[in-house]
Formats: sequence, structure tokens, C-alpha cells
Amino acid sequence: MIEPSIVRTQNALRGQVWEWRGYGETIAFVPTMGALHAGHLSLVNLAKKKADRVIVSIFVNPTQFAPGEDFENYPRAEKEDVAKLASVGCDLVYVPRKGSMYRAHHATHIKVGGVAENLETDHRPTFFDGVALVVTKLLNRAAPDIAIFGEKDYQQLATIRRLVDDLDMPIKIIGAPIARDEYGLALSSRNQYFDEDGLFKARQMNKIMYSCAARLSGGADIANGTTAAEKALIDAGYSDIDYVSVACAESLEIAKSGTIEKPMRLLIAAHCEGVRLIDNCAVNPA
Ligand code: AMP
Repeated sequence: MIEPSIVRTQNALRGQVWEWRGYGETIAFVPTMGALHAGHLSLVNLAKKKADRVIVSIFVNPTQFAPGEDFENYPRAEKEDVAKLASVGCDLVYVPRKGSMYRAHHATHIKVGGVAENLETDHRPTFFDGVALVVTKLLNRAAPDIAIFGEKDYQQLATIRRLVDDLDMPIKIIGAPIARDEYGLALSSRNQYFDEDGLFKARQMNKIMYSCAARLSGGADIANGTTAAEKALIDAGYSDIDYVSVACAESLEIAKSGTIEKPMRLLIAAHCEGVRLIDNCAVNPA
């Protein structure tokens, strides 16, 4: 097992990228906030198939957390993360030094419209501004050929595709399927906040989601299907439902009623034992 090198400055990152480019090697980039689990590692495995070299960044990005969210308490485990990345053959881990991402004079903001509106933005109004900013900066610093993002954060993936296309960044964005535990729960760094009871409740979300998707694919009305799923979540012990929505798989335009006539996505965000969970799956016409 070869240990990945750890770099903490833009210059060291660029130097390594230039060296690889000099050998004609291609580079894949996987941005993360650390506290890595098998979902993150599946992105690295995909990255290894797509490029000669894989860079993973670990940065808990303050600008995507709203006041009162879990920025301070977000799990941080650099040593364990690096060991996990070594086990899957990551070449380089980029851990920007605290304070080096947003310097004192920082005054540039990025707002993505269209796909970044509604859904998450209705509940976390500044979230995608923070994501767009940090992803732009990380992509500028790493200058990869491709970057990999999980479908777990489906609206985020769509937002980054829009951003990269709109700003003419010469980087191919690749979506990776959602990694789940043996009960179907989408893996998340925040799952470690759950006790046993919370974990049991959390694992109901994907069952409710898939059964709703099956009903919708079978011709059920979207309003009826999503209302039934909301009720099922409450019955399963969820306290707040942020949304159970059906949206066009590409434009993310929300369909409030009617039946499924083209590839759509069912997206859910709800709170379970104080932890906000999101999940999504495809809903296709029968
Ligand atoms: P995060 O560290 O939560 O910011 O996630 C970093 C990347 O990993 C993002 O592209 C996420 O969409 C992706 N990711 C997180 N959890 C999963 C999962 N369960 N399956 C696939 N990708 C994931």
C-alpha cells in the first residue's frame, strides 16, 4: 500500500499536478469534507478508473454552513481519512490550511440559478452559494481533467454541472451512484450522529422513497404519491419533512401533480432525531 502524499498549499498542489501533466498523465479530483466512509471511497474507486492520478481534497467548507448548522461539530478525522484513502490508492490528499481558502480580503460570490433554486435552497438559502464558491476555487487550484461528485447530493451535482458549463471550465463532471448500507440507508458522514434507535428510523427513509417511486412509476398521481410518502415518514418517526418532491431528472423543474411521463427524480429531505437526512432515486415512466 502506497501512502498518498498530503499537501496543504496551493503551490505544492500545482507543482505536483504540473509534474504529472508533464508525464502526460490525466488527473481526477474528488472534493470532500472528510469523515470519509465507503461512499466517498466509491468515488475514489471510480476516479481511478477514469484517470491516471487521483486527488482527494478534505476541507470542511464554512461558507456552505448557515449559522446554527453543525460546522463546528462536523466530524473531523484527518488521520483516519488518509489511511482510508491509502487503502484505495489515492495519489494525493489536499488539505488546505485553515484560513488559506478564504483570505481576509475575500469579496467574490457565486450564485447559480435554475437547478440550484427550490428544494435544498428553500431550506438552506445560502448553501449552494457556498458550494459553488468552494468548488470553483478547488477546481481552479487542482485544475483536474475530471471531477467526481455523488448522486447522493443530486441537486448539488446538477448545480456543479451548470456552474462548470456556464463558466467554461474545461473539466468533465462525472456523477457517481449512491452508496448505501445493507439496509439501504445512504451513507453519510452525519450518520455517525445516530444512536441505535435513530439509525433504525433513518433506515426507513429509503424504503418509503422506493415504494413511493414504484407507485409513481406505476401511474399514481404525483401529489397523492408524495403526500403518502410524507405521512409514512412522519409515522416512521421523522419530525420535520423539508420536502418530498418530484423533479425533472435534468432541469430539476418540480412537478407537483400529474403522472410520470419522462425521466424524473424523487428527492427527499427530512429530519430524524435532530439529524437532517437527504436521499433521492430515479422515477421513470412505466
Ligand atoms: P461530503 O464530504 O459530504 O461533502 O461529500 C463529498 C462527496 O461525496 C460529494 O460529491 C457527495 O455527493 C459524495 N457522497 C457522499 N455520500 C455519498 C454516498 N453515500 N454515495 C455516493 N457519494 C456520496
